[in-house]
Amino acid sequence: MAASLELTPITEWGYFTLPRPMVIAGPCSAESEEQVMETAKGLSEVGIHVFRAGIWKPRTHPGCFEGVGTPGLKWLQKVKAEYGMKVATEVASERHVYECLKYGVDLVWLGARTTANPFLVQEIADALKDTDIPVLVKNPVNPDLDLWIGALERLNRAGVKKLGVIHRGFSSSEKMPTRNDPSWSIAVELRRRFPDLPFFTDPSHMGGSKEFIQPLSQRSLDLGFEGLMIESHCNPSVALSDAKQQLTPAEINELLSNQIKVREKGGDDMSFKEGIGPLRAQIDVIDENILYILKQRMSICRKIGEYKKAHNVAILQTNRWDSILSKMVEAGKKFDLSEEFVTEVFTAIHEASVQAQNEILSGSAKE
Ligand code: PEP
Ligand code: MN
Repeated sequence: MAASLELTPITEWGYFTLPRPMVIAGPCSAESEEQVMETAKGLSEVGIHVFRAGIWKPRTHPGCFEGVGTPGLKWLQKVKAEYGMKVATEVASERHVYECLKYGVDLVWLGARTTANPFLVQEIADALKDTDIPVLVKNPVNPDLDLWIGALERLNRAGVKKLGVIHRGFSSSEKMPTRNDPSWSIAVELRRRFPDLPFFTDPSHMGGSKEFIQPLSQRSLDLGFEGLMIESHCNPSVALSDAKQQLTPAEINELLSNQIKVREKGGDDMSFKEGIGPLRAQIDVIDENILYILKQRMSICRKIGEYKKAHNVAILQTNRWDSILSKMVEAGKKFDLSEEFVTEVFTAIHEASVQAQNEILSGSAKE
């Protein structure tokens, strides 16, 4: 079933202006009135118009700081009144939605753990019926594009048209440098299916550490995504949650003014770049996937090598190789890939596999 969404363009929400990136910034959690007001002041001084702060925090372990709850909504009201900013927070239940509506929160988002739960998404969608508040949906914790789309559909069917997404990466069982796996290809696929859906990236939760915020933000812009949601705290080192990944307002300013490049629309040359940038960024994502798949293939080849060694079998099994190659050449034709090209690619892959297995048999393999 090809889903379609009825959307209000983000430029009509009255929150964000072009050029990109559209930015939402603020602390992981609202901790105290002073921390909220000081951070908001710093951010408003550097031109941020939409302030985020977690009021109810989904924490892995009980007993951690789980947010200040409803009293924090009064501080957000104060941010609106003093700095004229729009305020945003995460909702994870119908009660959260009602509290946010009561206190005039301007935008809500669904966190990754909530998007993964259709019961909760439906409950939130029902609570948002007949309101006009924009909603951003973070990807589910697991890399399941349909679950992400299902949440968007539930909200859209409840009448939420000011709808967008936030890509914050996916949990992974593999060890990786970033806190969550960016899996850009999933985000790119979502963009391909819903080109008009406003797209934010959350480099803070994706990276898990300050040093990843710049490269992840740049990547997101290069892919043509509209916005960034970045965590910012007036004094990150004493933050009660996510201390390692929060920037000060001054660092946010430095990031946005000097460390990331946005291709401006303009003359012919620039509009060419604007068009080709996202395509090149998509190619980069595909190339990374090719490398990842090659790595997986190679590790299975090594296992086969171990197996052959244990059973004292020769590495090169010409029949098997002939059958792989002819199967791939046939399959390639269906994708318009020439016999010559497919043969060349698979010959190179096969040679590397034989080489890896040789090393295992001769005992020179690493590990
Ligand atoms: C957050 O944005 O504060 C948050 C908890 O993020 P996520 O749902 O991406 O883990
Ligand atoms: Mn956080």
